[in-house]
Amino acid sequence: MIPQHQGISWIYVLLRAIEREKTYDYIICGGGASGLLLTQKLAEDPFFRDKKIALVEKDIKNQNDRTWCFWENSSGSFDHLLHTQWEEGYFGSAHFTSEFSLQPFSYKMLRSKPFYEACQHILDNSPQVDRIQAEVIAIEDQKDVHRVRTSGETLYGKRIFSSLFDPKILEQQKKYPVLQQHFLGWYVTTEKAVFDPNRIHFMDFDIPQDGATRFIYVLPFSETEALVEYTLFSADLLTLQEYERGIKSYLESLDCGTYSINETEQGSIPMTSYRFDRHNSHHLMHIGTAGGWTKASTGFTFKKTTEKIDALVAFLKTEKPFSRFWKPDRFWFYDLLFLDVLAQHNAYGHELFRMMFQKNDPEVILKFLDEKTSFWEEIRIMISFPIPLFVKALWKRLF
Ligand SMILES: Cc1cc2nc3c(=O)[nH]c(=O)nc-3n(C[C@H](O)[C@H](O)[C@H](O)COP(=O)(O)OP(=O)(O)OC[C@H]3O[C@@H](n4cnc5c(N)ncnc54)[C@H](O)[C@@H]3O)c2cc1C
Repeated sequence: MIPQHQGISWIYVLLRAIEREKTYDYIICGGGASGLLLTQKLAEDPFFRDKKIALVEKDIKNQNDRTWCFWENSSGSFDHLLHTQWEEGYFGSAHFTSEFSLQPFSYKMLRSKPFYEACQHILDNSPQVDRIQAEVIAIEDQKDVHRVRTSGETLYGKRIFSSLFDPKILEQQKKYPVLQQHFLGWYVTTEKAVFDPNRIHFMDFDIPQDGATRFIYVLPFSETEALVEYTLFSADLLTLQEYERGIKSYLESLDCGTYSINETEQGSIPMTSYRFDRHNSHHLMHIGTAGGWTKASTGFTFKKTTEKIDALVAFLKTEKPFSRFWKPDRFWFYDLLFLDVLAQHNAYGHELFRMMFQKNDPEVILKFLDEKTSFWEEIRIMISFPIPLFVKALWKRLF
């Protein structure tokens, strides 16, 4: 027989354990771009008013750790938070350059700090949302139990979303090529006026390619201030010094005089058509980069994520299994072929982009990258590329 005091202590332990095991309708792991956007959309939609939602993030997200750029025609829901926007662009390469109007689009720049703060403010005023600062240790998605073990407690969820990206899943497969959009950016102030504050340099390939796809990306804020990034679309990352050399030599080529570096930004974004959706189940869905929401051929993710979240919130109202949320479409297949070619002929990437910009209207290119073109517009873009390279890639995929 258990002594009285021992029985009480067992009940106490049990009650404590129950208290620590919280149950939610939705648990969202990772409070970066996609996690915050999803939680905010759920919190603001009256349909989900009675749902209990947990957002688990390990970091205090209050830094400008990302500069998100995207293009949009007309006004958008982040306009009040934007740092800058532009209406004109430039494409450069050794044998072709183009200055063009971005219209009907504006190229918009959102820094992450105001975005994080605005989202967090909304969530902190949403009684159905618990914002939990903890590390996710494991997500357990079994037949009857769906739980998230964190550094502090165990959470039980009816449905779980995760933006925790594990690069190992890409390393462990060979079916899909994996490139990275990798870069170092410097926010600089130059002695001489060398930037056109109205015009972004979307891609400038007129730099040594050294066997890989390399370009300079410039977001100007005034004639003497800009974010200058040395960017590659390639498989292997560089040393910090190599990125730095790339930016330095570009600034020297502008003859900008002395300059100061005010802030830096570095990143590596996976570019792949890997089927991330195959890791989803009835109750678990991967979102953001971890869900394959990065545009494989460019690395752009932010705008696509906002669109996916809108679609996901509508989908959640149907109660259908997550496996029915997305199926590969023709844009997925275009990106797959493009990456097959770019991975195989990485030194030739600058030529592929040159052909695209030389033979097509920039407005149609931006629409194409947004996956909003008609089939005929896509055919016209495709025939700007060397057909044999793509036929060979297609042949390999089919047989
Ligand atoms: C420097 C940089 C600049 C970029 N610029 C652009 C751009 O201009 N345009 C564009 O479209 N895309 C851009 N991207 C790509 C993409 O938009 C971003 O990476 C975007 O943040 C992806 O959103 P996400 O939710 O998938 O990942 P994240 O925003 O990285 O969110 C994941 C979150 O999960 C948290 N987390 C990770 N592990 C754990 C854990 N174990 N427990 C709890 N929390 C955890 C992280 O702290 C993070 O907050 C950029 C990326 C980088 C790195």
